[in-house]
Formats: sequence, C-alpha cells, structure tokens
Amino acid sequence: MPSAQLVQQYASSTEPESWQRSLQQAIRDPIELWQALDLPFTLLPAAKQAAKQFPIVVPRALLTRMRKGDVDDPILRQVLPLAAELETSSSYFSDPVGDLAAQVAPGLLHKYHGRALLVTTGACGVHCRYCFRREFPYVDAKLGRHQRQAALDYLQQDTSITEVLLSGGDPLSLTDGKLAEWFEQLNAIEHVQRIRLHTRQPIVLPNRVTPELLQLLVDSRASVVIVVHVNHANELDRTTEAALQKLRPACKALLNQSVLLAGVNDRSQTLRQLSEALFAADVLPYYLHQLDKVQGAAHFAVDDDVALQIMAELRADLPGYLVPKLVQEQAGEPAKTPLL
Ligand SMILES: *Cc1c(COP(=O)(O)O)cnc(C)c1O
Ligand code: SF4
Repeated sequence: MPSAQLVQQYASSTEPESWQRSLQQAIRDPIELWQALDLPFTLLPAAKQAAKQFPIVVPRALLTRMRKGDVDDPILRQVLPLAAELETSSSYFSDPVGDLAAQVAPGLLHKYHGRALLVTTGACGVHCRYCFRREFPYVDAKLGRHQRQAALDYLQQDTSITEVLLSGGDPLSLTDGKLAEWFEQLNAIEHVQRIRLHTRQPIVLPNRVTPELLQLLVDSRASVVIVVHVNHANELDRTTEAALQKLRPACKALLNQSVLLAGVNDRSQTLRQLSEALFAADVLPYYLHQLDKVQGAAHFAVDDDVALQIMAELRADLPGYLVPKLVQEQAGEPAKTPLL
C-alpha cells in the first residue's frame, strides 16, 4: 500500500517542508500584527491581554488578503483579539457543545450515529477568535501511542461507525507521514467507509496541499470527504483557489462550512458572494453554523431572527445547491440542529 511507503519516506525526512516553514513564520505577537497592518495602537493593550488567554496565530499568506488600517476588515476580524473577548457572559461556556462528555476514548468524540471524530492534534494554522475549541483541553487529548491505540480499538469494535472525521485543531497541521499513519490504520478497519477531513489549512496555508498529500488521499481505500472552512469570499484568492482545485479530484466531495459571524459575514449579499466564490473554486457549501457559545466569543453572535432572515434572502437569491444549511450544535442532541 503506497501509504506505508509514505510513512517510511517521511519518517526518514528531516527537512521541514515549505508549508511547515510558513506555519513557523506565522505572526504570533500582537505588536507585529499591529505594525504589519497599521492598526490603531489604542487597541493593543486589550489585544495583548486577550492573546494571553488564546494566543494569536496569523499566517502571513492571510495578511495579503486583508486591508491595511481597517479593523473592520472581514478576515482580520476573525483573528483580531479585542477587549470584548475579556468580558465573561453567563450564557457562554468553556465547553458549549458537550465535547468532554462525548469523549469515548482519548481524543475520540462519538456523538452522532455512524460517525466519530478524532481530535488528531491541537495545532491549527490560524487561531480564529470565535473557535469553539478555544478552551478545549488539547494537551490532555494529545494522543500518545497507547491512547491512539485505545481510540483505534474503539473504532474497530463499534461496527456501526462508517465514517471517521479527522479534526483538531487542524488535521493538516500533521505531517504527511503522520497523516499517512492515520489513513493506514483507519483504512485497515473494514467498516470505515469514509474518512472526512475538517481543515482550514488549504485556505490559510495553501502550500499545505502537497503532491504527497494528494497521493495519500487518492490512495485511500475509504472514500475521502474534505470540509474546508471559509467565512468570506475575500479568503479565496488565486493561490487558495488553485489549492482547492487540486484537492477536488483527489477526494469524493469537497465541501465548505462557515460560521455566521457578526461583522464578518452577517449579510445575505456577503454570503451569496461566498457561495459563488466557493463554487468557482470547485467547493459546495455545506453548513452555516450559528456560533457556539464559547466564553470570549459573544461579540460575534448573530440573533436567530437575523440569521433566519439572511437565510430567506439567500434562498431567494441562489440556486438551492449553493445555499448552506443553517445549523446550531446543541449538546446532547443526536445531530446538528437545523434552524428553519
Ligand atoms: C459535527 C460533528 C460531526 C459531523 O456531523 P455531520 O452532521 O455529519 O457533519 C461528527 N461528530 C462530531 C463530534 C461533531 O461535532
Ligand atoms: S481553524 Fe477551526 S479549529 Fe482552528 S482555530 Fe479556527 S475554528 Fe478553531
């Protein structure tokens, strides 16, 4: 099986790849972000404070898609630490979607029938301020060899699980060698028919789409589904589009999920442009998530009434296949809850 060769090949390679260098070079210091984008220094002290709770990570490839000096830029907004994050709100929680209760083995969440989600890594190529896992105890979920085996044993013995989601963090922050190991082990479990990757890496680090990655996907016995994460059409530039167009033939379906975010994409016109830009890049919209109520993200919330109005406008403006499903994740429910 070619993926076994890949495991070997990468185990012996020590050179960091270009995407790994891009990841290392991401901006992690608020001052640097402020300087690079000419942001007002009055906002810096609170940003530093907020970044202590959830560090900033902004890849340089994203900077080029932002407008300088504009704190309302829709991409910047997603990664910009603000004073509002420091406010605690009684209806916001550290684990809003019940991930800890759904953990059936270390790093393995089994919430829904037929599908299980593996937290393969805590690392991401970008830190989105609204991330629902910003408070998830990744360090505890980090998989050593024993824990990984416990997760695989669980998947092996539960034959109702036909789809495994690789998530995180971002599973594409793993090296191709590490990913190849996961693919090899999951492909060895007969009842696993689909492997789904939830990743933002092709958007924020387009050079992550390496020929080796594409080969790994093509060689998978189980069908591969990729769900990327784009919230605004400005995130799709020529390089990103090229990365997505390379991914498309290497998987069975290439979908997008977005989060409905105040100040980023809470207008139907913005979402219409997003769906059209995604389609041009060979991606179909899947979910539009109502924000998970994680502590520190309340300033991104959009009221359900407003969300439903936006959806009605979208349905009127777009072909049905370009309209994402508006959903909310509720702890303890058997599926994501549609908002109609
Ligand atoms: C969202 C999610 C899934 C996938 O749900 P779909 O509706 O199939 O996209 C699976 N497991 C967990 C834990 C999830 O949070
Ligand atoms: S890429 Fe996804 S998991 Fe990573 S910080 Fe953003 S929302 Fe969270």
